[in-house]
Amino acid sequence: MPMNDAVDATIDLGGGVRAALVVAGSFRSDAGSLLGPAPWVLWRDIVGDEPDADRRLLQALNCLLVETPAGRVLVETGIGERISDKMRAIRGVQGDPILPAMRKAGFDPGSVDVVAMSHLHFDHAGGLLDAEGRRGFPRATIVAQRAEWEVALDDNPRNIAAYDQPELRLVRAWGDEGVADGEREVLPGVSVVPTGGHTGGHQGVVVRGPRGTLAFFGDLAMRPWSANPRWVTAFDDFPLDSVRTKARLFATAADEGWTVVLSHEAKVPIGRLERDRDRFRWVPR
Ligand SMILES: [Zn+2]
Repeated sequence: MPMNDAVDATIDLGGGVRAALVVAGSFRSDAGSLLGPAPWVLWRDIVGDEPDADRRLLQALNCLLVETPAGRVLVETGIGERISDKMRAIRGVQGDPILPAMRKAGFDPGSVDVVAMSHLHFDHAGGLLDAEGRRGFPRATIVAQRAEWEVALDDNPRNIAAYDQPELRLVRAWGDEGVADGEREVLPGVSVVPTGGHTGGHQGVVVRGPRGTLAFFGDLAMRPWSANPRWVTAFDDFPLDSVRTKARLFATAADEGWTVVLSHEAKVPIGRLERDRDRFRWVPR
């Protein structure tokens, strides 16, 4: 895998299994919504001066390009190139979308075998198509959970607001080619693991190599404070599931020393989890 200055960071798991962090720009999201049930007095010092005039935090669009001897997996696609100028302004979208970000990092989007999606919210699935509406990753299958496709396209007003349904309808048939029902090894060493919580069909991605394990827990682990299982976002559709699943997965990640990549953290996106009383602590790499 070509490694150059344009790759934001790399993680080497040995045996030819490597991951590169590719940041597909950023957007802004309401601070209170991101901190969910946690009161402001507990998080004001944590976010410091990050909130803008509209009290929004900077959310990086972290994607992972995983290379294995058997092929390449892209995890997440960010917001992409098809968002309207109006929505771009409202969401505070900045930076290169996934396709130019990948090319700058030395990766041909045509070389991706699998696109693994934690879930299908607009800030994760928006980059599946290029600006003209063609498949951004022409050789790849999309791996998302069947349950996620179902909630993404249902008629609940909350889901209609959280997903870009017209865009998802354009990729629905493509998504069908790789749809998953439960845990699946998408390439040797790379597995998707259903988690629920944030959305009904949310999944994590776990990459195993001879020298270690890497996990991407999607929006169950957006930012360092997500290490507390009880600190879930207001965007989580099933918060009790999020808390339970985070506690279980984070315990394994902490006890086995997994490397973890956060989905929306700009400054310290790579690290590991450490046990801390009834919760966990984020330890940046
Ligand atoms: Zn997200």
